[in-house]
Amino acid sequence: MTKTAIRAQTSARQIEHFDVVIVGAGISGVGGAYHLTKQCPGTSFVVLEAQASFGGTWLTHRYPGTRSDSDLYTFGYRFKPWTSAPIATRAEILDYMGEVIAENGLDRHIRYRHAISSARWSSGDQLWTLECTRADTGETVRFTANFLWMCQGYYRHSEGYTPEWPGMRDFKGRIVHPQMWPEDLDYAGKTVVVIGSGATAATLIPAIASECSHVTMLQRSPTFFRTGRNAIPLADELRQLGIAETWIHEIVRRKILHEQSIFTRRSFSEPEAVKKELLAGVRAHLGPDYDVATHFTPRYRPWRQRIAFVPDGDFLEAIAAGKASVVTDEIESFTAAGILLRSGRVLDADIIITATGFNLNVLGDIDFTIDGKPLIFSDTVTYRGMMFTGVPNMAWVFGYFRASWTLRADLVADFVCRLLNHMKEKGARQVTPTLRPEDADMPLLPWIDPENFNPGYVMRGMHLLPKRGDKPEWQHTQDYWSEKDEFPAIDLDDGAFTYE
Ligand SMILES: Cc1cc2nc3c(=O)[nH]c(=O)nc-3n(C[C@H](O)[C@H](O)[C@H](O)COP(=O)(O)OP(=O)(O)OC[C@H]3O[C@@H](n4cnc5c(N)ncnc54)[C@H](O)[C@@H]3O)c2cc1C
Repeated sequence: MTKTAIRAQTSARQIEHFDVVIVGAGISGVGGAYHLTKQCPGTSFVVLEAQASFGGTWLTHRYPGTRSDSDLYTFGYRFKPWTSAPIATRAEILDYMGEVIAENGLDRHIRYRHAISSARWSSGDQLWTLECTRADTGETVRFTANFLWMCQGYYRHSEGYTPEWPGMRDFKGRIVHPQMWPEDLDYAGKTVVVIGSGATAATLIPAIASECSHVTMLQRSPTFFRTGRNAIPLADELRQLGIAETWIHEIVRRKILHEQSIFTRRSFSEPEAVKKELLAGVRAHLGPDYDVATHFTPRYRPWRQRIAFVPDGDFLEAIAAGKASVVTDEIESFTAAGILLRSGRVLDADIIITATGFNLNVLGDIDFTIDGKPLIFSDTVTYRGMMFTGVPNMAWVFGYFRASWTLRADLVADFVCRLLNHMKEKGARQVTPTLRPEDADMPLLPWIDPENFNPGYVMRGMHLLPKRGDKPEWQHTQDYWSEKDEFPAIDLDDGAFTYE
């Protein structure tokens, strides 16, 4: 037998057991690990992460200018103060997460380069068995766990979403997806077209525009942006007064959340007024002669898609300075020299950047079975966007679209820890969300109402997502302001939970 074969056989026999396995070491998984150590001391757990380090989104995305589009007072954890400007760079966020790991001794719980490929639930053993491939050794390793905490995010990290356009292969320049940014990409003096109009395009363009010959943002339809200073005067003032950072963090979080709640409510109750304000912010940078109606006035009402914050209007300033421009049109085909548009216009390009989004990946591309039967996720009904009918001992973190993701990651973590402690007290080894008799006739709807929120990656992946009901228990509301009170009040002995 070869050495490799012996190693494969040996590792196949070794199965490590943990009370909890956390999938992913992004902001949700690292937060989950922290909460588990604080709220469920004595619980054995491991964080399994496919990549070589922590960070998730912030490790994967390396395009120039990668930064948050919401503030770090609320994107940061509630337990670790954020002490800098609200919009943060990738490096700042990674440093912050690194501090959380180091300060709380979480390193020893994380196994990097462990990509989970399958998860099998056995009701006989009341255990999950996970199979992983180690990227460093190629070995297959197995773990068993009582509880699976899915913190795998919402998109495939190994590739971005690029639509197929006619003639792509004819293009003589380079086509780059921002999620796979090549380190050697030399854009100095080049003519660049960025396809897309979301937060990625708006952060990438100001970061490269000054070095490029010109950057054109090519969009099919416009997006809303918010502009403002990358500063929170109240935070700066409190700092000058020598107030403790833990206080500043809490006060500024409350201020931001209060303002966001008003803004969200207004975008439903007076969408036209909100739209006017957002467009006025854009006009302030682009001047009265710019065609804001064509390039910056979306067809949807504010908040039906995420609104990116543009600090100091830098993206708009690049346009005002003539280093960048916007074209609103559709792609007919790629050509050897660039892109032919529906209008007949041609955009020349040395480099085309496809800022066209993500491939939704709901369960980390893990092959799930329950007692030997494949788990068809879209046949399940979501319990408050955290658990799923018929899926035992599993919780899932999916954050907010309209507020910072981490606000929900913290709330879900509190719920999971409370549930684990409750199971311990009850002596239960298994908890499965189950529709109650009163839910029998409940209409089952798509996971999210497209009238409420409809970004492309969610619409493309809706058929993969669980169903929702018409009662609060069976919905993922996307509303921090109600969930912050409802989650801590969830009755764990409600009939929606079946314990064994
Ligand atoms: C450029 C960019 C900027 C953003 N800015 C903001 C913002 O400002 N505010 C905001 O609220 N949201 C923002 N988002 C959304 C952002 O993705 C989330 O807020 C958040 O980072 C998600 O964290 P997560 O830990 O849940 O998932 P991720 O960051 O996606 O991390 C998941 C981790 O799980 C690992 N994993 C997945 N599958 C497996 C598997 N099978 N086995 C092992 N490991 C696996 C992945 O490798 C990854 O490391 C942004 C997204 C992008 C792309």
